[in-house]
Amino acid sequence: MAYTVSKLTDYSAAALERAVAKLLAALESEAGAVSNEADWKVFRDRWLARKNGVLTLVNDLWLKAAPKDAKRDVGQRVNQLKSQVEETVEATRQRMLGGTSASKLTSERIDITLPGIRRPLGAEHPVIKTMNEIVSVFRNLGYSVEEGPEIETDYYNFEALNFPPNHPARDTQDTIFIAGQESKPLRDRLLLRTHTSPVQIRTMEKQRPPVRVVCPGKVHRNDAPDATHSPIFHQVEGLAVDTNITFCDLKGTLDHAMKALFGSSVKTRFYPSFFPFTEPSADVQISCIFCGGKGTRDGGPCRNCKASGWIELLGCGMVDPNVYGFVDYDSRKISGFAFGMGVERIAILKYGVDDIQLFFNGDVRFLEQFG
Ligand SMILES: [Zn+2]
Repeated sequence: MAYTVSKLTDYSAAALERAVAKLLAALESEAGAVSNEADWKVFRDRWLARKNGVLTLVNDLWLKAAPKDAKRDVGQRVNQLKSQVEETVEATRQRMLGGTSASKLTSERIDITLPGIRRPLGAEHPVIKTMNEIVSVFRNLGYSVEEGPEIETDYYNFEALNFPPNHPARDTQDTIFIAGQESKPLRDRLLLRTHTSPVQIRTMEKQRPPVRVVCPGKVHRNDAPDATHSPIFHQVEGLAVDTNITFCDLKGTLDHAMKALFGSSVKTRFYPSFFPFTEPSADVQISCIFCGGKGTRDGGPCRNCKASGWIELLGCGMVDPNVYGFVDYDSRKISGFAFGMGVERIAILKYGVDDIQLFFNGDVRFLEQFG
């Protein structure tokens, strides 16, 4: 039979104590029976509810009904009871929460002796790896690294590099332009940079000679993808400007770089070429790394160099004096050279890859071989 608060007929201290003891016994046994949150809410409401809760009844039936001379003692006792009931209700809640989190701990226990989940380690992409190798060759020569935006203005990509206004490189067949630029003057129109050379202009604008920088980065051409073309590829360009820089310095630097990249037995040769931003300009060829420059391999002509013994690899030249005019350098006092190489082209040679698309397809089976 559940405990109910009954009226006091006797307000003596002894009778009051008996009634209190009975109430506390009921409180303890009901608290002990609480085993979940729903139980606890019922328990809390039974004892603390403003309407018909046990404490409210105690207040009404014991305190309010007490004769005047007993009111003080009964009041003190009821106040004590009130805190005892509140404490017990709270302690019961704590016990229940403790019970819950203990069982949670058991169910969510981590067995540290189980074997872990191995995440495969990533590796540098062969293009990035090659780009870093090229950059480090030039860093070791004292070059610093500069980067620039991939979306450029016509000014930095063409005009300041001495491309005349009607140069065919601006043709949309070669260059990818940002749409909706027609209302702007030509030099402000935005495009995806077709080479990293704009970084050289940006560098010379903010730095006086001597300048020695390499500019690695992604470039874009309006080329349909095939085994040897990609609309996205990477370049590393270099620029050295100082007093008394000659073509000999250019030859020595690139010969050293090619030997550092492909091995000390590699030879270089320079062929006259043309670029708007260099004069004179040259294409650099290296002796074929597949046939050792002989032009024959395994008893037949070498496929890689078309039996010539040479592979064309990069472009270079002495910076055209017109370019210095755009960056306020005095072309009578300084001179310099520039060079640029395609990173994929070098990676293809270094790793014997036969299709440039493999670098961009994201096929892990291909990429894993470089891990
Ligand atoms: Zn060859």
